[in-house]
Amino acid sequence: MSLRSTLDFLLYDWLKAEALNGRERFADHSRETFDAVMDTCERIAREKYAPFNRLVDTQEPQFDGEKVILPQATHDARVAYAESGMLSAAQDYDIGGMQLPFVVESAANTFFAKASISIGANLLTTGNANLLMAHGTELQKQVFALNEFNGRFTGTMCLSEPQAGSSLSDVATRAVPDGEGFADDPLGPRYRLTGNKMWISAGDHELSENIVHLVLAKIPGADGRPMPGVKGISLFIVPKHLVDAEGRLTGDRNDVALAGLNHKLGWRGTTNTLLNFGEGKYPVRGGAGERLDGAGAGVGAVGYLVGKPGEGLRCMFHMMNEARIAIGMAATMLGHAGFEASLDYAKHRPQGRPLGVGGKDAGASPVRIIEHADVRRMLLAQKSYCEGALALGLYGARLVDEQRTGPPEAADEARLLLEVLTPVIKSWPSEFCLEANSLAIQIHGGYGYTRDFPVEQYWRDNRLNMIHEGTHGIQAMDLLGRKVVMEGGRGLQLLAGRVNHTIERAIQVPGLAAYANALGQALQDVGAATEAAWATGDPQEALANAVPYMQAFGHTVLAWIWLDVALAAIALPTLPARQGRLAAARYFFHYELPRIGAWLKVVRERDLTCATLPEDAF
Ligand SMILES: Cc1cc2nc3c(=O)[nH]c(=O)nc-3n(C[C@H](O)[C@H](O)[C@H](O)COP(=O)(O)OP(=O)(O)OC[C@H]3O[C@@H](n4cnc5c(N)ncnc54)[C@H](O)[C@@H]3O)c2cc1C
Repeated sequence: MSLRSTLDFLLYDWLKAEALNGRERFADHSRETFDAVMDTCERIAREKYAPFNRLVDTQEPQFDGEKVILPQATHDARVAYAESGMLSAAQDYDIGGMQLPFVVESAANTFFAKASISIGANLLTTGNANLLMAHGTELQKQVFALNEFNGRFTGTMCLSEPQAGSSLSDVATRAVPDGEGFADDPLGPRYRLTGNKMWISAGDHELSENIVHLVLAKIPGADGRPMPGVKGISLFIVPKHLVDAEGRLTGDRNDVALAGLNHKLGWRGTTNTLLNFGEGKYPVRGGAGERLDGAGAGVGAVGYLVGKPGEGLRCMFHMMNEARIAIGMAATMLGHAGFEASLDYAKHRPQGRPLGVGGKDAGASPVRIIEHADVRRMLLAQKSYCEGALALGLYGARLVDEQRTGPPEAADEARLLLEVLTPVIKSWPSEFCLEANSLAIQIHGGYGYTRDFPVEQYWRDNRLNMIHEGTHGIQAMDLLGRKVVMEGGRGLQLLAGRVNHTIERAIQVPGLAAYANALGQALQDVGAATEAAWATGDPQEALANAVPYMQAFGHTVLAWIWLDVALAAIALPTLPARQGRLAAARYFFHYELPRIGAWLKVVRERDLTCATLPEDAF
């Protein structure tokens, strides 16, 4: 099944995306306009992304001491993406947007993710601009966000530091007011920043006129010390080149210096950087940090406050939640790319003879490996992981549309469901679509372990997704420690209500009733394990097995998604597509869902085997 036919089925037959056109915001849209966007993205991905995926892997970004050098193909891909209008797809018409539903935008972006995940970092730019649209002043929107949407500028998110990755409360970058009148700068209260930001994706390059860094930093209190914890964190716009209130470059370079590029396992088409803010490489004139040596330059990179002091992390979460859905989709599409490659390989590679009743017939011709049951198992596993994850990601995107444009009660339910599902949408594909990539290598045998075939690159590219945007362990603690218990467990109850609704429909359908019962049992088991984990109220005990909990929770969510998809598929006339989707659902219920028993057992028993082992016993 082509990606396009799967997307069409999920968007229109399953999620009924066309119904969104009944809402005022999307009234000008129709299936035709949605399809036109999908066609354009599919074409650009085919022409400007896919042919260069290996090139950007082998020609890593280089730093010549002044500038970052990237292949021409990266520049061309960025221009094509910007010209397609996708940077501002969801924005209002009056600022040049398309007012496209997020679910269609997400579906259209899958073509790029599958063709070459690392050639473009456009989702960072869109996420950065979207954050400014939500939390910036009118002028910050005009000068920075709009110039990101139109492709002039690109964006980054600068959270991590060498000593502060998972624990952002330890951020050490400082921001001090930039002299008298600092609060009156038209671009926002002006500060001077000093510190180091590690791992910053697309942190330096020559792809755009300017780079808009969104930086987390702490403003010291009256005692000169930054407030401990996340409450002391504020958010700043720190442009690479300074701009005036019209968005024109002033000709002054801001003091953001590239200390070096990180050399990565995969995802090599995007630069990854260590940035030094305010180290003095590009001194900026004026301001509070005026040097006493008479050089006339202030100390620190110029940054403009976004929102209120101390609200930095809250604002940044606007970008991080979108980014987490996008990361889940990225993992999913890398899984898809491997699935397609290994399916094609399995159809053409002759090897071995079929098993007959009397054993192998040595005189028979070799068969194609797709004829072996074990290869089929690996193909169906990939299909169930990747198409299931795609359905989950689009379901999440549809919830975003509901939250933004639905009636108040439905919008609030969508918000809460997203709270609970976001760790799963990010993490489940990161783990299981990576496993899909591993199976794709396995199907290629020794050839899969070489660079002559693309599957090893997909695996390397995908390995990042369990690490960035909150590691697997951090996401699991967010799920069990916060999301399923927040608002008195209302989010979990809401999710259970949706799952039960699917169960009630499926139980009426011959062929699906057994799966409906299995899902009902899984849901009960997850609920019981959640309660048992928190029975003593001790977070150390409850969260000791947060990752197995997230695996079981995720598998239950995916089983629900597959059952719901199966209900839509069963109504389809086209035979192979229908058969394939029902087989993937069946695979998931027969081979995957039973695994939750082992995962939930350690959660339920608050098993401390790992947590309490003395260090010297490892
Ligand atoms: C290629 C790449 C691109 C990135 N892009 C960006 C970017 O654009 N912007 C940005 O700001 N950051 C970016 N990051 C940083 C990324 O978000 C961090 O690497 C991540 O948050 C983990 O931080 P760390 O590397 O310091 O690991 P650590 O936080 O040191 O974690 C190491 C291990 O310890 C575990 N651990 C840590 N704390 C706990 C805890 N409390 N409980 C249980 N386990 C724990 C983690 O799960 C992990 O397995 C990127 C990283 C990479 C590799």
